[in-house]
Amino acid sequence: MDGIRNMKARLFTPGPTPVPEDTLLELARPVTYHRAAEAKAILAEVSEDLKYVFQTAQPVFTLTSSGTGGMEAAVSNALAAGEKAILCTAGRWGERWRGVLKAFGANIVTVEVPYGKAVTPDMLEAALAAHPDTKVVFTTLSETSTGVGHDLEAFGKIVAKTPALLAVDGISGLGAMECKMDAWGLDLVVTGSQKALMMPPGLAFISASAKAWAKIDATPVRSFYFDLRRYRKSLAESDTPFTPGNTLIKAQRVSLKRIRAEGIENLWARHSRIAAACRAGVEALGLKVFAERPNSALTVIAVPASVDGTATLKALEKKYGYKLADGQDTLKGHIWRLSHMGYTDSFDVLGALSALELTLLDSGFKLEVGAGVAAFQKTYAAGK
Ligand SMILES: *Cc1c(COP(=O)(O)O)cnc(C)c1O
Repeated sequence: MDGIRNMKARLFTPGPTPVPEDTLLELARPVTYHRAAEAKAILAEVSEDLKYVFQTAQPVFTLTSSGTGGMEAAVSNALAAGEKAILCTAGRWGERWRGVLKAFGANIVTVEVPYGKAVTPDMLEAALAAHPDTKVVFTTLSETSTGVGHDLEAFGKIVAKTPALLAVDGISGLGAMECKMDAWGLDLVVTGSQKALMMPPGLAFISASAKAWAKIDATPVRSFYFDLRRYRKSLAESDTPFTPGNTLIKAQRVSLKRIRAEGIENLWARHSRIAAACRAGVEALGLKVFAERPNSALTVIAVPASVDGTATLKALEKKYGYKLADGQDTLKGHIWRLSHMGYTDSFDVLGALSALELTLLDSGFKLEVGAGVAAFQKTYAAGK
């Protein structure tokens, strides 16, 4: 077999993320028929557990696609051609919204901040005041390209006062950081299986508020596969309109049970404690956290000018088996992205930090050996 090496592969990319053993074993089981009673019972159970993760009383639909399919479902169902949308973007995933919006002929008003910054509630409020005919505001919970998290509780309050909807890309954020769809007034929430939900890629999930459903029902159908009305009708009978990735759904059931067993508040607290410890570790190495409003799904580290960012990541993987993610597009070589979402614990992150320390040391970067690890431990210990 190619590529065999005597080293553990350690995945720290912000999607895909590690998958627990019991979920992997479920994926290895024989394929079953997706219209059988058992399949419907499993979909019903998964849908209930997803409502818990989304913190909503609304149905959550399972789409067989990557997360972007969920984004396309939000745009194509909630927005008619030519209607106005405010896009609050802080990075590449906000730009993904822009791509989908363009494809569906939206009239886009952009509220944009430089990479590493977050769109503020004031900026959104001003844009809505200037564009009262806005139908939907699009934004990102965790901007996975920069590590920024948006204040969606504040965004929700602002948008709720207007006729507009708030559509949230929760891919990577949902299941890693606090997010309450109903309590915060989020109207369309999307996520994917391969970020914080401890699954391989392949499923997207979307839910719509009553306010969003009123708009969807008044908007012409613009998509066949992603027509949410079809999913609503099917899910009422614990079914899907098309052949679902039922093997993935069965495995997602197993990972969702872990979230239920831990409790969502405990899960949020665990992620924020690890994230705080990781940031302390990074800073103790003399490095900077890239995001001005960091979220707890991942830590994004600014690469010092004296260091070759891409070469360092390659060495880190080759020598120690740790796979972190490089920056995308213009950020390539300038940031390192270290995920701590999903099935990643404090000691996994401590290990990654320790390996990064050694790799930097090997490359001649000046640091005090163990400083990052010690700061991580201190902050982690103080966190409880
Ligand atoms: C990963 C990611 C996406 C893209 O999802 P795909 O599953 O690749 O389609 C979109 N938004 C955010 C915030 C992400 O982290």
